[in-house]
Amino acid sequence: MNWFKKFSFSRLSEGLSKTREEVVGKINRLVTAKGTIDEDTLEQIEEILIAGDVGVDTALTIAEHIRERVQRDKYASVEELDNLIRDEMQMLIGGDEDPGANPFSVPRDKRPYVIMVVGVNGVGKTTSIGKLAHHYKNEAYNVIIGAADTYRAAANEQLEIWAQRAGVGIIQQAHGADPAAVAYDTVEAAKSRHSDVVIIDTAGRLHTRVNLMEELKKIKRVLQKRNPDLPHEVLLVVDGSTGQNAIQQARLFNEAVGITGLIVTKLDGTAKGGIVLAITRELNIPVRFIGVGEKLEDLQPFDRKIFVDALFQFEQEAQ
Ligand code: GDP
Ligand code: GDP
Ligand code: MG
Repeated sequence: MNWFKKFSFSRLSEGLSKTREEVVGKINRLVTAKGTIDEDTLEQIEEILIAGDVGVDTALTIAEHIRERVQRDKYASVEELDNLIRDEMQMLIGGDEDPGANPFSVPRDKRPYVIMVVGVNGVGKTTSIGKLAHHYKNEAYNVIIGAADTYRAAANEQLEIWAQRAGVGIIQQAHGADPAAVAYDTVEAAKSRHSDVVIIDTAGRLHTRVNLMEELKKIKRVLQKRNPDLPHEVLLVVDGSTGQNAIQQARLFNEAVGITGLIVTKLDGTAKGGIVLAITRELNIPVRFIGVGEKLEDLQPFDRKIFVDALFQFEQEAQ
Protein backbone atom coordinates (compact mmCIF):
# COMPACT_ATOMS: atom_id res chain seq x y z
CA MET A 1 0.00 0.00 0.00
CA ASN A 2 1.22 3.45 -0.82
CA TRP A 3 1.02 5.55 2.32
CA PHE A 4 0.74 8.78 0.40
CA LYS A 5 -2.74 7.69 -0.65
CA LYS A 6 -3.83 8.31 2.92
CA PHE A 7 -3.17 11.98 2.48
CA SER A 8 -5.51 14.15 0.51
CA PHE A 9 -4.07 15.17 -2.84
CA SER A 10 -6.71 17.85 -3.25
CA ARG A 11 -5.75 19.34 0.12
CA LEU A 12 -2.15 19.45 -0.98
CA SER A 13 -3.10 20.88 -4.34
CA GLU A 14 -5.30 23.47 -2.63
CA GLY A 15 -2.46 24.36 -0.25
CA LEU A 16 -0.15 25.02 -3.18
CA SER A 17 -2.67 27.17 -5.04
CA LYS A 18 -0.86 30.48 -4.48
CA THR A 19 2.36 29.14 -5.93
CA ARG A 20 0.45 27.52 -8.78
CA GLU A 21 -1.29 30.78 -9.58
CA GLU A 22 1.94 32.81 -9.46
CA VAL A 23 4.15 30.34 -11.32
CA VAL A 24 2.17 27.94 -13.50
CA GLY A 25 -0.73 30.35 -14.03
CA LYS A 26 1.52 33.26 -14.96
CA ILE A 27 3.51 31.20 -17.44
CA ASN A 28 0.32 29.92 -19.03
CA ARG A 29 -1.17 33.40 -19.36
CA LEU A 30 2.06 34.72 -20.79
CA VAL A 31 2.32 32.02 -23.44
CA THR A 32 -1.38 32.26 -24.30
CA ALA A 33 -1.15 36.03 -24.71
CA LYS A 34 1.97 35.87 -26.85
CA GLY A 35 0.92 32.87 -28.89
CA THR A 36 4.55 31.98 -29.35
CA ILE A 37 7.63 31.15 -27.31
CA ASP A 38 10.39 33.48 -28.41
CA GLU A 39 13.53 34.64 -26.58
CA ASP A 40 11.62 37.34 -24.79
CA THR A 41 9.00 34.84 -23.57
CA LEU A 42 11.73 32.48 -22.39
CA GLU A 43 13.34 35.24 -20.36
CA GLN A 44 10.02 36.04 -18.75
CA ILE A 45 9.47 32.36 -17.96
CA GLU A 46 12.87 32.32 -16.26
CA GLU A 47 11.92 35.36 -14.20
CA ILE A 48 8.62 33.85 -13.13
CA LEU A 49 10.33 30.64 -12.04
CA ILE A 50 12.99 32.56 -10.10
CA ALA A 51 10.31 34.68 -8.40
CA GLY A 52 8.66 31.42 -7.32
CA ASP A 53 11.94 30.54 -5.57
CA VAL A 54 12.65 27.32 -7.45
CA GLY A 55 16.32 28.35 -7.48
CA VAL A 56 18.21 30.18 -10.21
CA ASP A 57 19.99 27.14 -11.67
CA THR A 58 16.72 25.23 -11.82
CA ALA A 59 14.98 28.13 -13.58
CA LEU A 60 17.80 28.49 -16.12
CA THR A 61 17.94 24.76 -16.82
CA ILE A 62 14.18 24.56 -17.35
CA ALA A 63 14.23 27.58 -19.69
CA GLU A 64 17.13 26.07 -21.64
CA HIS A 65 15.25 22.82 -22.17
CA ILE A 66 12.15 24.66 -23.30
CA ARG A 67 14.35 26.58 -25.77
CA GLU A 68 15.72 23.34 -27.24
CA ARG A 69 12.28 21.86 -27.46
CA VAL A 70 10.79 24.89 -29.19
CA GLN A 71 13.67 25.04 -31.66
CA ARG A 72 13.08 21.43 -32.54
CA ASP A 73 9.28 21.46 -32.77
CA LYS A 74 8.80 25.14 -33.66
CA TYR A 75 5.78 25.35 -31.40
CA ALA A 76 4.64 24.23 -27.97
CA SER A 77 1.06 24.57 -26.74
CA VAL A 78 0.34 25.66 -23.18
CA GLU A 79 -0.42 22.06 -22.25
CA GLU A 80 2.80 20.78 -23.76
CA LEU A 81 4.65 23.51 -21.96
CA ASP A 82 3.08 22.56 -18.60
CA ASN A 83 4.04 18.96 -19.17
CA LEU A 84 7.52 19.95 -20.18
CA ILE A 85 8.11 22.14 -17.11
CA ARG A 86 6.63 19.55 -14.81
CA ASP A 87 8.83 16.79 -16.27
CA GLU A 88 11.87 19.04 -15.99
CA MET A 89 11.14 19.83 -12.34
CA GLN A 90 10.67 16.18 -11.50
CA MET A 91 13.83 15.22 -13.32
CA LEU A 92 15.89 18.00 -11.77
CA ILE A 93 14.96 17.14 -8.22
CA GLY A 94 15.35 13.41 -8.75
CA GLY A 95 13.20 10.59 -7.48
CA ASP A 96 12.62 9.23 -4.00
CA GLU A 97 14.20 5.86 -3.34
CA ASP A 98 11.10 4.44 -1.73
CA PRO A 99 8.13 6.72 -2.29
CA GLY A 100 5.67 4.17 -0.96
CA ALA A 101 7.20 3.78 2.50
CA ASN A 102 5.11 4.72 5.52
CA PRO A 103 6.64 7.92 6.90
CA PHE A 104 5.04 7.22 10.28
CA SER A 105 6.37 3.75 10.86
CA VAL A 106 8.49 3.19 13.97
CA PRO A 107 10.86 0.20 14.06
CA ARG A 108 10.34 -2.04 17.08
CA ASP A 109 13.93 -1.85 18.22
CA LYS A 110 13.82 1.95 18.28
CA ARG A 111 11.01 2.55 20.71
CA PRO A 112 10.55 5.02 22.17
CA TYR A 113 11.46 6.70 18.93
CA VAL A 114 12.79 10.14 19.84
CA ILE A 115 12.30 13.09 17.52
CA MET A 116 13.78 16.47 18.39
CA VAL A 117 12.19 19.42 16.60
CA VAL A 118 14.25 22.59 16.10
CA GLY A 119 13.96 25.90 14.26
CA VAL A 120 13.77 29.66 14.79
CA ASN A 121 10.77 31.33 16.42
CA GLY A 122 7.53 31.45 14.53
CA VAL A 123 8.34 28.94 11.80
CA GLY A 124 5.72 26.49 13.05
CA LYS A 125 7.55 24.05 15.34
CA THR A 126 4.84 23.72 17.96
CA THR A 127 2.08 23.50 15.37
CA SER A 128 3.98 20.87 13.37
CA ILE A 129 4.59 18.85 16.54
CA GLY A 130 0.84 18.76 17.18
CA LYS A 131 0.27 17.57 13.62
CA LEU A 132 3.05 14.96 13.80
CA ALA A 133 1.65 13.65 17.09
CA HIS A 134 -1.76 13.37 15.45
CA HIS A 135 -0.39 11.34 12.52
CA TYR A 136 1.62 8.99 14.73
CA LYS A 137 -1.39 8.50 16.94
CA ASN A 138 -3.46 7.63 13.87
CA GLU A 139 -1.00 4.81 13.25
CA ALA A 140 -1.93 3.55 16.75
CA TYR A 141 1.29 4.64 18.40
CA ASN A 142 1.43 5.94 21.93
CA VAL A 143 2.94 9.44 21.78
CA ILE A 144 4.41 11.80 24.38
CA ILE A 145 5.41 15.39 23.70
CA GLY A 146 8.23 17.03 25.68
CA ALA A 147 7.91 20.78 26.30
CA ALA A 148 11.58 21.75 26.12
CA ASP A 149 10.86 25.29 24.96
CA THR A 150 11.07 26.56 28.53
CA TYR A 151 12.14 30.01 27.38
CA ARG A 152 8.88 31.51 26.15
CA ALA A 153 6.31 32.04 28.90
CA ALA A 154 3.32 30.99 26.78
CA ALA A 155 5.06 28.00 25.19
CA ASN A 156 3.74 25.40 27.65
CA GLU A 157 0.08 26.38 27.26
CA GLN A 158 0.34 26.46 23.49
CA LEU A 159 1.91 23.00 23.36
CA GLU A 160 -0.69 21.72 25.83
CA ILE A 161 -3.47 22.81 23.48
CA TRP A 162 -1.86 20.90 20.60
CA ALA A 163 -1.31 17.82 22.77
CA GLN A 164 -5.01 17.90 23.66
CA ARG A 165 -6.05 18.31 20.04
CA ALA A 166 -3.92 15.35 19.05
CA GLY A 167 -4.98 13.41 22.16
CA VAL A 168 -1.46 12.65 23.38
CA GLY A 169 0.47 13.10 26.64
CA ILE A 170 2.81 15.96 27.48
CA ILE A 171 5.72 16.34 29.91
CA GLN A 172 6.58 19.82 31.10
CA GLN A 173 8.35 21.71 33.84
CA ALA A 174 8.16 25.26 35.09
CA HIS A 175 8.96 28.16 32.78
CA GLY A 176 12.72 28.69 32.79
CA ALA A 177 13.58 25.07 33.63
CA ASP A 178 16.56 23.35 31.97
CA PRO A 179 15.34 22.23 28.52
CA ALA A 180 17.72 19.26 28.62
CA ALA A 181 16.14 18.11 31.87
CA VAL A 182 12.67 18.29 30.30
CA ALA A 183 13.88 16.25 27.33
CA TYR A 184 15.44 13.70 29.66
CA ASP A 185 12.27 13.49 31.77
CA THR A 186 10.16 12.96 28.67
CA VAL A 187 12.23 9.99 27.53
CA GLU A 188 12.10 8.57 31.08
CA ALA A 189 8.31 8.98 31.14
CA ALA A 190 8.04 7.36 27.72
CA LYS A 191 10.05 4.39 28.98
CA SER A 192 7.91 3.85 32.03
CA ARG A 193 4.65 4.33 30.10
CA HIS A 194 5.85 2.15 27.22
CA SER A 195 5.29 4.95 24.76
CA ASP A 196 6.38 4.48 21.16
CA VAL A 197 7.15 8.02 20.09
CA VAL A 198 8.64 11.04 21.86
CA ILE A 199 8.52 14.44 20.19
CA ILE A 200 10.53 17.21 21.80
CA ASP A 201 9.69 20.86 21.23
CA THR A 202 12.53 23.36 21.62
CA ALA A 203 13.04 27.12 21.85
CA GLY A 204 13.83 29.26 18.81
CA ARG A 205 14.77 32.73 19.95
CA LEU A 206 17.00 34.35 17.37
CA HIS A 207 18.68 37.21 19.20
CA THR A 208 20.83 34.87 21.28
CA ARG A 209 21.55 32.46 18.50
CA VAL A 210 24.79 31.11 19.97
CA ASN A 211 23.08 30.26 23.23
CA LEU A 212 20.27 28.60 21.37
CA MET A 213 22.69 26.36 19.51
CA GLU A 214 24.48 25.55 22.78
CA GLU A 215 21.13 24.76 24.38
CA LEU A 216 20.18 22.43 21.54
CA LYS A 217 23.56 20.71 21.66
CA LYS A 218 23.12 20.17 25.37
CA ILE A 219 19.67 18.61 24.90
CA LYS A 220 21.23 16.22 22.41
CA ARG A 221 24.14 15.45 24.71
CA VAL A 222 21.91 14.72 27.69
CA LEU A 223 19.66 12.45 25.59
CA GLN A 224 22.75 10.63 24.36
CA LYS A 225 23.76 9.95 27.95
CA ARG A 226 20.52 8.03 28.23
CA ASN A 227 21.10 6.21 24.94
CA PRO A 228 23.80 7.04 22.36
CA ASP A 229 21.29 6.49 19.51
CA LEU A 230 19.14 9.41 20.66
CA PRO A 231 17.63 11.45 19.19
CA HIS A 232 16.64 9.18 16.31
CA GLU A 233 15.69 12.22 14.29
CA VAL A 234 16.36 15.94 14.42
CA LEU A 235 13.76 17.70 12.31
CA LEU A 236 14.33 21.32 11.34
CA VAL A 237 11.21 23.37 10.73
CA VAL A 238 11.53 26.20 8.22
CA ASP A 239 8.92 28.69 7.06
CA GLY A 240 8.45 28.18 3.32
CA SER A 241 7.33 31.78 2.83
CA THR A 242 10.76 33.11 3.83
CA GLY A 243 12.34 31.74 0.66
CA GLN A 244 16.12 31.47 0.55
CA ASN A 245 16.32 32.18 4.29
CA ALA A 246 15.17 28.63 4.85
CA ILE A 247 18.30 27.32 3.14
CA GLN A 248 20.57 29.45 5.33
CA GLN A 249 18.81 28.30 8.48
CA ALA A 250 19.18 24.68 7.42
CA ARG A 251 22.94 25.12 7.02
CA LEU A 252 23.26 26.81 10.42
CA PHE A 253 21.24 24.27 12.39
CA ASN A 254 22.80 21.37 10.56
CA GLU A 255 26.24 22.52 11.59
CA ALA A 256 25.18 22.78 15.24
CA VAL A 257 23.04 19.70 15.81
CA GLY A 258 22.97 17.62 12.62
CA ILE A 259 19.59 17.76 10.89
CA THR A 260 18.10 14.48 9.67
CA GLY A 261 15.14 16.02 7.87
CA LEU A 262 13.16 19.17 7.16
CA ILE A 263 9.61 20.28 7.66
CA VAL A 264 8.69 23.15 5.33
CA THR A 265 5.62 24.98 6.65
CA LYS A 266 3.15 27.64 5.48
CA LEU A 267 3.23 26.63 1.83
CA ASP A 268 -0.47 27.49 1.74
CA GLY A 269 0.27 31.14 2.47
CA THR A 270 2.98 31.78 -0.09
CA ALA A 271 3.60 32.04 -3.81
CA LYS A 272 7.18 30.94 -3.18
CA GLY A 273 6.49 27.22 -2.80
CA GLY A 274 9.23 26.58 -5.33
CA ILE A 275 11.58 26.86 -2.35
CA VAL A 276 10.87 23.19 -1.65
CA LEU A 277 12.46 22.33 -5.00
CA ALA A 278 15.44 24.60 -4.28
CA ILE A 279 15.92 23.02 -0.85
CA THR A 280 15.75 19.54 -2.31
CA ARG A 281 18.37 20.42 -4.90
CA GLU A 282 20.72 22.50 -2.78
CA LEU A 283 20.80 20.70 0.54
CA ASN A 284 21.75 17.16 1.19
CA ILE A 285 18.95 16.86 3.73
CA PRO A 286 15.58 15.35 2.82
CA VAL A 287 12.37 17.33 3.11
CA ARG A 288 10.24 14.97 5.20
CA PHE A 289 7.00 16.87 5.70
CA ILE A 290 5.30 19.98 4.40
CA GLY A 291 2.73 22.19 6.11
CA VAL A 292 -0.15 23.35 3.95
CA GLY A 293 -2.50 24.81 6.54
CA GLU A 294 -3.24 25.22 10.23
CA LYS A 295 -5.30 22.11 10.92
CA LEU A 296 -4.08 18.78 12.29
CA GLU A 297 -4.40 17.12 8.88
CA ASP A 298 -2.41 19.85 7.15
CA LEU A 299 0.99 18.26 7.60
CA GLN A 300 1.75 15.97 4.69
CA PRO A 301 4.62 13.61 4.05
CA PHE A 302 6.73 14.97 1.22
CA ASP A 303 7.13 13.12 -2.04
CA ARG A 304 8.86 15.03 -4.82
CA LYS A 305 6.79 13.61 -7.63
CA ILE A 306 3.48 14.12 -5.88
CA PHE A 307 4.53 17.64 -4.89
CA VAL A 308 5.22 18.68 -8.48
CA ASP A 309 2.06 16.93 -9.70
CA ALA A 310 0.07 18.88 -7.11
CA LEU A 311 1.73 22.12 -8.17
CA PHE A 312 0.43 21.52 -11.70
CA GLN A 313 -2.77 19.90 -10.45
CA PHE A 314 -2.24 16.67 -12.36
CA GLU A 315 -4.46 14.77 -9.97
CA GLN A 316 -5.03 11.77 -12.19
CA GLU A 317 -1.32 11.05 -12.29
CA ALA A 318 -0.76 11.14 -8.53
CA GLN A 319 0.58 7.89 -7.15
P1 GDP B 1 7.05 28.07 16.58
O1 GDP B 1 7.40 29.39 17.18
O2 GDP B 1 8.11 27.60 15.65
O3 GDP B 1 6.69 27.03 17.59
O4 GDP B 1 5.75 28.32 15.66
P2 GDP B 1 4.21 28.03 15.95
O5 GDP B 1 3.95 26.57 15.87
O6 GDP B 1 3.82 28.73 17.19
O7 GDP B 1 3.54 28.68 14.67
C1 GDP B 1 3.61 30.04 14.36
C2 GDP B 1 2.42 30.42 13.50
O8 GDP B 1 2.50 29.78 12.23
C3 GDP B 1 1.09 30.00 14.08
O9 GDP B 1 0.17 31.05 13.91
C4 GDP B 1 0.67 28.80 13.23
O10 GDP B 1 -0.72 28.65 13.14
C5 GDP B 1 1.27 29.14 11.91
N1 GDP B 1 1.54 27.96 11.06
C6 GDP B 1 2.33 26.90 11.33
N2 GDP B 1 2.33 26.02 10.31
C7 GDP B 1 1.53 26.53 9.35
C8 GDP B 1 1.14 26.11 8.03
O11 GDP B 1 1.55 25.06 7.49
N3 GDP B 1 0.29 26.94 7.35
C9 GDP B 1 -0.15 28.12 7.89
N4 GDP B 1 -0.98 28.86 7.16
N5 GDP B 1 0.20 28.54 9.11
C10 GDP B 1 1.02 27.77 9.83
P1 GDP C 1 24.20 20.66 33.77
O1 GDP C 1 23.03 21.58 33.67
O2 GDP C 1 25.45 21.27 33.25
O3 GDP C 1 24.33 20.07 35.15
O4 GDP C 1 23.87 19.49 32.72
P2 GDP C 1 23.60 17.94 32.89
O5 GDP C 1 24.47 17.20 31.95
O6 GDP C 1 23.66 17.55 34.33
O7 GDP C 1 22.11 17.75 32.38
C1 GDP C 1 21.04 18.66 32.64
C2 GDP C 1 19.81 17.96 33.23
O8 GDP C 1 19.50 16.78 32.51
C3 GDP C 1 20.04 17.53 34.67
O9 GDP C 1 19.69 18.54 35.58
C4 GDP C 1 19.10 16.34 34.79
O10 GDP C 1 17.80 16.77 35.10
C5 GDP C 1 19.07 15.74 33.40
N1 GDP C 1 20.01 14.61 33.36
C6 GDP C 1 21.17 14.53 32.67
N2 GDP C 1 21.77 13.36 32.87
C7 GDP C 1 20.98 12.66 33.70
C8 GDP C 1 21.07 11.36 34.30
O11 GDP C 1 22.02 10.59 34.09
N3 GDP C 1 20.04 10.98 35.10
C9 GDP C 1 18.99 11.81 35.35
N4 GDP C 1 18.00 11.39 36.16
N5 GDP C 1 18.87 13.03 34.81
C10 GDP C 1 19.87 13.46 34.02
MG1 MG D 1 6.84 27.01 19.67
